[in-house]
This record gives sequence, C-alpha cells and structure tokens, in this order.
Amino acid sequence: MSLQNAIGHNGNGNGHNGNGAGPNGAVPGMNSTGVVIAHSTTPLPAGVHLPLYMDNHATTPLDPRVLDAMMPYFTGKFGNAASRNHQFGWEAEKAVEIAREQIAKLIGATAKEIIFTSGATESNNLALKGIAEMYRERGNHIITQVTEHKAVLDTCKKLEKQGYRVTYLPVLADGLIDLDDLRRAIVTEGPEKTILVSIMFANNEIGVVQPIREIGKICHEKGVLFHTDAVQAVGKIPVNVLADNIDVLSISAHKIYGPKGVGALYVRRRNPRVQITEQINGGGHERGMRSGTLNVPGIVGLGAACEICRNEMEAEAVRERELRDHLRNRLEAALDYVQVNGNMEHHLPGNLNMSFVYVEGESLLMGINDIAVSSGSACTSATLEPSYVLKALGLGDEIAHSSIRFGLGRFNTRAEVDYVADKVIDVVRKLRELSPLYEMVQEGIDLTKIEWAAH
Ligand code: PLP
Repeated sequence: MSLQNAIGHNGNGNGHNGNGAGPNGAVPGMNSTGVVIAHSTTPLPAGVHLPLYMDNHATTPLDPRVLDAMMPYFTGKFGNAASRNHQFGWEAEKAVEIAREQIAKLIGATAKEIIFTSGATESNNLALKGIAEMYRERGNHIITQVTEHKAVLDTCKKLEKQGYRVTYLPVLADGLIDLDDLRRAIVTEGPEKTILVSIMFANNEIGVVQPIREIGKICHEKGVLFHTDAVQAVGKIPVNVLADNIDVLSISAHKIYGPKGVGALYVRRRNPRVQITEQINGGGHERGMRSGTLNVPGIVGLGAACEICRNEMEAEAVRERELRDHLRNRLEAALDYVQVNGNMEHHLPGNLNMSFVYVEGESLLMGINDIAVSSGSACTSATLEPSYVLKALGLGDEIAHSSIRFGLGRFNTRAEVDYVADKVIDVVRKLRELSPLYEMVQEGIDLTKIEWAAH
C-alpha cells in the first residue's frame, strides 16, 4: 500500500484534512506520534482535526502559556534550587517559591504548606504512608472508599499488609458516599482508633464530586485527619482547604494543562498541624518531607498552570459544562437505551460517562478510533475487566463494558463535540444493527425472561 493510500483521502485529494497541521503540530493524516490515521472520504467540519482528543481526565495537553513559562528553566536558568551560594541557585529557588505561592493561592493554603512531588501517585503514597507511620502510636485504622484511584487503593493494600486496618466505604448508585456510613466507620478509641480518612474530591471516571466539606467536618469533629486526592478537582472547580476542612491534599500538574511528572502535596500547618514521615530519604529537601533535587521547570509549569486555572476556571467551567450538556443532549436525543453514570448534580463540568446498552464498548471505541476517549473496561494482563468504579455503582459487567468516558477540556470546541456526537450516534446505530439482543428488545422480548440454551 502506498503512503498516500495508507493516509487515506478525505475529499480534497491531497491526503490532508484540509485544515492545516493539527493543534499539536502533527502532520495532517498522521497523529503526533507518527501513527497513520485513515480518514473517511467526507471532508471534516471546519475546526476539527484528527485525531481528536477528548480524554482530559487521563491527561491534558500542555497549555502553550505554561510551556513559555517553563522554557527558560531548561536552559539559561538551569540552577539547582538547593544551591545556596550562587545566583543560579537563587534564581531557581525564587522561581520555585513563586510557584509554591501560585499553587497555594489556588487552594486557599499558604506557600509553606506545599510540598513538591513527582505527581499525584507519589503525593497519595506520601500522604497515606507518611501519616500511617507518623500516627501509628495513636491508632491503626484508615478509612477510604471503593472508587478511589489505584494510587490510593494499592497504597491501602500495602498498609494492610503492614498491619493497618482499612475500611473501604461503599458508594451509593450515584457514586456518592453515604455520610452515615462514614460516621459509623470512624473509631474514636482504643488501638483500632481511626487516624486518617482519605476520600477523593472528584472521581476520574464518573466525575462525581463528593461532599468534601461535610466529610472534613465529620473528621474534624472526631479528631481524625482528612486527606483528599483532588487531582481531578483542583483547577476545575473551587477548592479551599480551609473552608473544605481538608488537612492533606494531592495535586498533579498534567491534569491541569501542566507538565507530566510533577505534583504537590498540601500539608496543613495549623489547626491541626499535620506531621508526615518522609518516604524518600536524602538531602532533606522540602523541609525533610521529600528529599530529591527539585524539578524546577516542572514546578514552574505547575505554578503557571495553577495561576491560569485561578484566573480562568470559572469561565472555563461554564463553557465545558455547556459543551458536556450539548454532547449528552445530542446522544440522548438520537439514541435509545443510553444511560448517564454518576450523580450529575455533583459533577465535574467536563465529564460525561455514558453507557450504550447493547453495544460492546471496545467495538464502539474501534469504530470511533480517530477520537480519543476511554472505555469502561480496563486491560489486565489476561482479560478485559469491567471498570471497578462502574461496578461499585451497581452496574453489571455488560453495561460497564458498554460505557464510554468523555473528558472535555480547555481546548475542545463545539465543532468537535458535534463531530463526536455524529460519529458516536452513527457507530452505535451500526453496531446495534448487528446486535441480536438489541433486535429482540426492539421486538418487545424481555431478555430477563429468556432461558438461554447451553452449547
Ligand atoms: N488520582 C487520580 C484521581 C487520578 O486521576 C490520577 C491520574 O490518573 C492520579 C491520582 C495519578 O496522578 P499522577 O499521574 O500524577 O501520578
């Protein structure tokens, strides 16, 4: 096959999508990694470039303004922020301290309460292991919930192996925890006293926002520390550690249009003063809580990303919510047997998790393979497992497998949303034409009453 054939035509005869280079400078017809994308023969709507990115909970593209802020710190201003005796070091340290302020401002903290890490996986590990170790004498009980990110769940599993007791709170059908379950789970006396509650601010799959302020209040009334993995919430919706009663909070730069491999942990210094045992030993950086030479360009990027979010978050949330609702309305108007997952009132603006019943999610993803979204299935080494988050809401394996997560972000446009809606509607209809189950349902057959013959 010639390259021209492999790239495919789209009506303008030159193998290009007619819109110039993609948003990330990719050669038309190829994505930025050089993968050849086969386009359909229909010209693309104005402003739509393929492949189209709508998976902003997985990661976000770097905002060009963030890159601009970072660039000088790769070259001329390359000093080590820990070098105390020359200008290169001072310059780097100054940049780090400005970033600390920018991050603190976004979440209502003070700069001294921000510890830099390599990302939220490390922040979550440091928070949970660091508090468990520091407060071991007080008690050995930790509370979390079943729909946390693996960075929290796997850390809890490790702590269980070390003798801690962990309670995994269930969630209701809409993805929210029941506050009475939390109240009941907290142990206030004895060796099994609860030392920490860790509940995520917003879920990365279903976008549900937990009642963080109330959770924090309950924890404080009972004298228990409260950590939240706020990776998906910070920069998207208002977060204020004081008003929200948060003691420890995890952030990641690459979810807010910053670079990958850098994050932060907020550690409260007053009422109460939280102490954390370090998990990485070395030069005593970050007030001894996290040793290691600071990633200055990355930290500058995280700071700049936070500053942009602080200025633009409100308007961005309105715009994303509108786009999200438009996508939802279009899909619901055109297709039957679709359902939205997660409580839509307490929800991230850019998240839409939908199940397309009688369609297999992976086939749907293949049918829309020039659009980047996520399915409700996770690849393990041997099988395709339905998402544990969707299963925790009570969804069966079939429906979980038929689910798609759309993650709208800063750079998505209305034209893109319409393109995605058209394409999903088209592919779902085609797949359903091939589905005997869908046909039976159309004929009014109750699938639950069928006795399937074994072969
Ligand atoms: N927590 C949540 C809710 C996430 O969505 C992610 C990213 O996937 C992480 C933690 C891990 O963050 P990082 O990629 O910075 O390690």
